[in-house]
Amino acid sequence: MKEIVRLILIIILGVMTMNVNAENVKDKKKRVIVICAHPDDAELTTGGTCILFSRLGYKIKCVSLTNGNKGHQEGTKNEIAIRRYNETQEVKRRMNCEYEILNNEDGELEANLKNRMEVIRLIREWKADIVITHPSYDYHPDHRNTSLLVQDAAFLVNVPKILPEVLALTESPLFLYTRGRYVNRQKPQPDIVVDITPVKKEKAYIIDAHASQIYEWLPWINRSKKVIPDTQEEKIEYILSEYVLKRGEIKENDRSVVEKWYGSRAKGVKTIEAFEICEFGRTVNDQDIRELFPMFSN
Ligand SMILES: [Zn+2]
Repeated sequence: MKEIVRLILIIILGVMTMNVNAENVKDKKKRVIVICAHPDDAELTTGGTCILFSRLGYKIKCVSLTNGNKGHQEGTKNEIAIRRYNETQEVKRRMNCEYEILNNEDGELEANLKNRMEVIRLIREWKADIVITHPSYDYHPDHRNTSLLVQDAAFLVNVPKILPEVLALTESPLFLYTRGRYVNRQKPQPDIVVDITPVKKEKAYIIDAHASQIYEWLPWINRSKKVIPDTQEEKIEYILSEYVLKRGEIKENDRSVVEKWYGSRAKGVKTIEAFEICEFGRTVNDQDIRELFPMFSN
């Protein structure tokens, strides 16, 4: 009888240990938050990396700090904001991510205390391991202010007396800047590059969810003479060439960084997303980066 009780206890303990281990494995999945200014910025700058992270089981959240309500030449601000919100709902389905839009006016984002607290809340609630935002030298004032807000939050996410109603983080996330429209002349070489060659079409498909931007607003504001194609297949090819490949071009300063992370596979890398480390967050060495970006070793 005693033997049976012992056996049952061993089985129960075994199941409990399995559950704890499963819990640990689940907890090890990294959490990434991409905080940008407008609904489409995260996908355009970081979409390929997000797809790769998502395939690794990472949890992804994209945030737009403004509602994007000036991002079209037609319709009321409200209509534009609603349409853009709906487009991000489509992105959620296509990219397997969360998406949050804050109700700040497009083109009027300020790096003020209220917005700083919002950014601290977002990073804490997501329990982020990696935070990605715009570089501070980008062309749009909303991008620059978003970058500043995230930089301002980088240290404060760990300070319990700041925003005490949301639990402070106990470990600093890694903070990264995406590549903006212009090269940072002070630091033209990125710290991290991710090969998005294998997922370039998937990235184009995600960007295609932003029809109001890609097929209407951006061609209009950029005075583009390019004809927007009709079929879905041609549209994906259009995004691929106009957005994914152009923005993902490997520049001269990138080459050695590609070689650093991809070694003998560097020759196969054709399209990238580049990132610069923001030093106000977690301090990382190359080994830490390889752990956060396991795609370098796969
Ligand atoms: Zn933007």
